[in-house]
Amino acid sequence: MLIVQKFGGTSVGDLDRIENVAARVSKTVKKGNSVVVVVSAMSGETNKLVGYAEHFSKNPASAEMDMLLSSGERVTAALVSIALQEMGHNSTAMTGRKAGILTDNSHTKARIEDINTDTMKCAIKEGKILVIAGFQGVNAKGDVTTLGRGGSDLSAVAIAGALKADLCEIYTDVSGIYTTDPRIESKAKKLDKISYDEMLELASMGAKVLQNRSVEMAKKLNVNLVTRTSFSDEEGTLITREENIMEAPLVSGIALDRNQARISLMGVKDKPGIASDIFNKLAEAEVNIDVIIQNKAHDGTTNIDFTVPVSELLGAKAIVDTFVQKGDIKDDSYNEDICKVSVVGVGMKSHAGVAAKAFSTMADNNININMISTSEIKVSMVIDEKYAELAVRGLHDAYELDK
Ligand code: ADP
Ligand code: ASP
Ligand code: MG
Repeated sequence: MLIVQKFGGTSVGDLDRIENVAARVSKTVKKGNSVVVVVSAMSGETNKLVGYAEHFSKNPASAEMDMLLSSGERVTAALVSIALQEMGHNSTAMTGRKAGILTDNSHTKARIEDINTDTMKCAIKEGKILVIAGFQGVNAKGDVTTLGRGGSDLSAVAIAGALKADLCEIYTDVSGIYTTDPRIESKAKKLDKISYDEMLELASMGAKVLQNRSVEMAKKLNVNLVTRTSFSDEEGTLITREENIMEAPLVSGIALDRNQARISLMGVKDKPGIASDIFNKLAEAEVNIDVIIQNKAHDGTTNIDFTVPVSELLGAKAIVDTFVQKGDIKDDSYNEDICKVSVVGVGMKSHAGVAAKAFSTMADNNININMISTSEIKVSMVIDEKYAELAVRGLHDAYELDK
C-alpha cells in the first residue's frame, strides 16, 4: 500500500517525539508499504515565529510572513529524515516546492492549484521514504506560500489525492474525532466513523482537529482519511462517505469557535445595493463572513451584524470605515468577546426539534443567544465568550452524546 502519514505539531514536539515518529514510519515501511510523510512544525514553533514578526510590525507583509512561517516545517522534515536515515532507511526531505505543490498568490492562505507529482513519484520509485514539509507551496512567481493555519492537514490530503494513496493517516495528540473537544468535555466519546460533510461542518465551526479545507479536499478526491494518535496504537476515526455509515446519529458533535469577532453596522442606508456593495468589498479582501443578521431600524435605516475570524478583523474594519466615511453607514462597533457554538449532525435533515433543543439548552443555562445561523446539518449560535464551556457541556448533555 501507499500510505501518507501526517504528524502534527505535538507529535513532533521534541526530539524524543521525532524519534518516535521515525520509528512508526519505519515500522510501516517494514510491513512492505511505501510511505510519504508530511510534517508540521514542532508545537508552538509557528506561534513563536508569528510573535517574532509582531515584535517589529502590527501588520507585517504576508509574503514575508510566508517566508518566515514556512521555515518551521522545514526543520522537522529534515530532522525526521535524518532520524530515518540513522535507522538505515533511504529517505529524503523535501520542501513543498520540491514536492510540486503549486498554489495561487494569496500569501498566508494560499489555495493549492495543482500538484506536479513527477519528483515525488520518481523518488518513490527509487524506494525512498519522502518526508515533506507541510503547510507550504510555491506560487507561479516562485515565492513560498503557506496554506493557512493548520494547513499541514491540507498538504497531506492533497498529496494523498494526487498520488492516489490508499490511505491518509493524520496523527495528532487525541485518538480520533470526538463528539466534542475532549479538552473541554471529558465525557466526550470517540467516533468510529464520521461523514465528510459532518466533519467539514465541525472543522469549519472551529474543531481544529482537522483543517476544514483538508476535509473538503478529502471529500472531493475521495481520500480514505483516518485521524489517530501518534502516542499509542489505538484505532482512530475514519472520515468517509455518508452511505458508509450504517446508522447516522441525530447529532454527531458539538464544535466551539473562540476566534470569532462580531461587527455591528448601525444606521446603514436602506437602499438596494448597499449590502451587496459592503459584502463584495469584504469578499474581494478575502474576509470570511459567517453569521449575518439584518434588522430594520425605526428611522428608515437598517442595522447589519456579522461575524468574522478575529485574524481578519483589522482588514474588515478598514473596509467598513470607507463606508462610514462615505456616509453609507452611520456608526460601527466591534466585539471580540464572543464565541460560536455549533451542533452538527446529518440526522437533522430528517428530524425536527434539534434547533429547538439547542435554544432551550441555552435558556436552561441562562445564556443569551446573540445570533443564530443554520444549515441542513448544523445549528450555530453566537454567545458571549465567557459561556463557551458551559454551552458546550450543556449541549453535549442535552443530546446525550456521552451515551
Ligand atoms: P495537530 O498539531 O496534530 O495538528 P491540533 O492541535 O491542530 O493538532 O488538533 C488537535 C486538537 O483538536 C486536540 O488536541 C483537541 O483539543 C482539538 N479538538 C477540537 N475538537 C475536537 C474533536 N471534536 N475531536 C477531537 N479533537 C478535537
Ligand atoms: N505549523 C502550522 C500551524 O501551526 C501548520 C500546521 O501545524 O498544520 O498552523
Ligand atoms: Mg492541526
